[in-house]
Amino acid sequence: MSVITTHKDGNVLVVTSNNPPVNALGIAVREGLVAAIEQAGQDNDVEAIVICCEGQTFFAGADITEFTKPPVEPLLPAVVEIIEAFDKPVVAAIHGTALGGGCELAISCHYRIAVPSAVLGTPEVKLGLLPGASGTQRLPRLVGVEAALEIMTKGENVPAPKAKAMGLIDRLAAEGALIDEAIAFAREVAGVRPIPRTSEKSITADPAVIDAFRKGNARKFRGFEAPEEIMRCVEAATRLPFAEGLAIERQAFVKLMFSSQSTAQRHIFFAQRKASKIDGIASDIKLRDIRKVGVIGAGTMGGGISMNFLSAGIPVTIVEQQSEALDRGLGVIRKNYEATAAQGRIKPEQVEGAMGLLTPTLNMADLADCDLIIEAVFENMDVKKDVFGKLDGIAKPGAILASNTSYLNINEIAAATSRPGDVIGLHFFSPANIMKLLEIVRGAKTADDVLATAMAVSKKIRKVAVVAGVCYGFIGNRMLMPRQLEAEKLLIEGATPAQVDKVHVDFGMPMGPFQMADLAGTDIGWHRDPKVINNLRDALCAEERWGQKKMAGFYDYDAKRKPSPSPRVAEIIADFRKKAGVELRVISDEEIMERTLYPMVNEGALILEEGMAQRASDIDVVWVFGYGWPVYRGGPMFWCDLEGAKKIVAGLEKHQDKFGPEFRLSPLLREKAKTGGRFNN
Ligand code: NAD
Repeated sequence: MSVITTHKDGNVLVVTSNNPPVNALGIAVREGLVAAIEQAGQDNDVEAIVICCEGQTFFAGADITEFTKPPVEPLLPAVVEIIEAFDKPVVAAIHGTALGGGCELAISCHYRIAVPSAVLGTPEVKLGLLPGASGTQRLPRLVGVEAALEIMTKGENVPAPKAKAMGLIDRLAAEGALIDEAIAFAREVAGVRPIPRTSEKSITADPAVIDAFRKGNARKFRGFEAPEEIMRCVEAATRLPFAEGLAIERQAFVKLMFSSQSTAQRHIFFAQRKASKIDGIASDIKLRDIRKVGVIGAGTMGGGISMNFLSAGIPVTIVEQQSEALDRGLGVIRKNYEATAAQGRIKPEQVEGAMGLLTPTLNMADLADCDLIIEAVFENMDVKKDVFGKLDGIAKPGAILASNTSYLNINEIAAATSRPGDVIGLHFFSPANIMKLLEIVRGAKTADDVLATAMAVSKKIRKVAVVAGVCYGFIGNRMLMPRQLEAEKLLIEGATPAQVDKVHVDFGMPMGPFQMADLAGTDIGWHRDPKVINNLRDALCAEERWGQKKMAGFYDYDAKRKPSPSPRVAEIIADFRKKAGVELRVISDEEIMERTLYPMVNEGALILEEGMAQRASDIDVVWVFGYGWPVYRGGPMFWCDLEGAKKIVAGLEKHQDKFGPEFRLSPLLREKAKTGGRFNN
């Protein structure tokens, strides 16, 4: 059966797409739509058309699998032209998500009606692209320059009621009555002339609006090419006739389509989906039921971890040692929810709803009815072993026992129980209620169904999860270590914290290594003995320069937490330099890149070789979603593919003597350099 079918309802031709799962605008759909319009043109009884979709949604976008294939006509820009030019009124009947090309198709129709639950939007920017089927020219004509910029550069969905208010759709239909109401609408407008065509609408041309928008969003758009191209196209729409604007849009679209940024963003889009596939486990494996969750420790991480489950409607029992710590932890959770409600992002009653699902306790035995228990106590092996030993005597059979450890060996923790198959690592990132990444650490004895259940749970709490093996720091923190080590060595050789950080920020990271250390606390993992000073960090810690919380770390901070270079840190560095007999020299930005970023790629390659990550793209996902690696550079392994492994290896070899004896060049990376191979194909 064809994906596009038609039937007549009196004088209205109803054109229906049935292309599961999301009615993507693939070639068969495009051909079918053009044929249906032709049919309507030839049939004198037809006075109007309704375009609608079966299944869960209106056209939810282009067929992304066609992106890398040669284009096949008719392309979407031509299809939407045919629809708009048609001389009988066309009504789009929207349910589900009218996204990307689907939204562009809707706005090329003469009228739009949608159910209240529908959403419209142009998420192309998230793939480093722009709406390339006339969206940049039609949308500003329909909803105004500012609203169009907002929709297209941010890629957020617009709910139907809001779309109605801004003129993006004409009418709202009752849920369940969309097609009937759309047909009635079509009948009503069948004789109306002139037919309203978006391309013929006038548009106000105030360049100041675009400039203000650009300035107001400079931070958000930093480094990204697509938002700038969208603004350029909208500016063209305000100035040029429709056809000329379209030509500019086409040019910009093609440029972005072949840009490394969009390639990287599309890589991450697919990588994120791939990450949830676990090698060697059948996809139909029976999962364990997770109805109730226990969290041990109500500190920085325990509170945030609990919020993930509470927000997903899953009850949580949270355990602390002392009532003060418990009260403090609960207070932080409540404050976070209330702040979210104050911003209008959740309803006030949702605060109480979430808090109502939380049971605080000082008694670990209260975890007996939990299906998943996550430990988030101090990062200390003895403490963790003690907790897991106790848990073994409390948790019900079949409960999953998870540790949020950042570095410690999950196998050793599992060995403290009589059920190592039920033990797993669930490494959340701080702040745990916000950061998208979850590293799921597969222990040597972790049962397959425990791993698969953890992956399923991650989806429920809307995390992006990646499976990691047991090694020091797993994937993310393990790769952070060589970066931090080199960054500190560079200071002793002559770079400043500000210079190193700037190189990373210019690269697109949200902050540099020293800004990050100050934010997290330079004292994390410190041995706490001010007399033992083995490195720069020890020296800072000994003087209580523990970062932002002490208003002093690698930088000095003012009351507003604004950093400035620290003369004291410069002295400490100079002292180290002298003691180490290192000669002060000028360090280039290029060397900073090569010495801090290239070793990360090398560590990633070692992780792959050792089987600690399932695939290179998983490492990219970790860095994009856990550490803010710029998505437009696709993660460290994808970035290596872009730069070429040969260049990375040459850079690493150049600095081999500085890396010291502990540095080991990855044979896998060396082989890629030799053969011109890539990590992501
Ligand atoms: P934290 O010190 O803020 O909180 C730990 C809490 O655990 C404290 O409130 C403490 O009272 C409680 N606790 C200790 N022993 C307990 C016990 N036996 N029973 C009940 N409660 C107990 O520490 P945190 O930063 O939340 O770190 C917790 C874990 O999460 C560590 O393993 C850490 O490595 C890991 N982690 C931390 C971060 C981070 O950025 N803070 C990120 C990822 C993972």
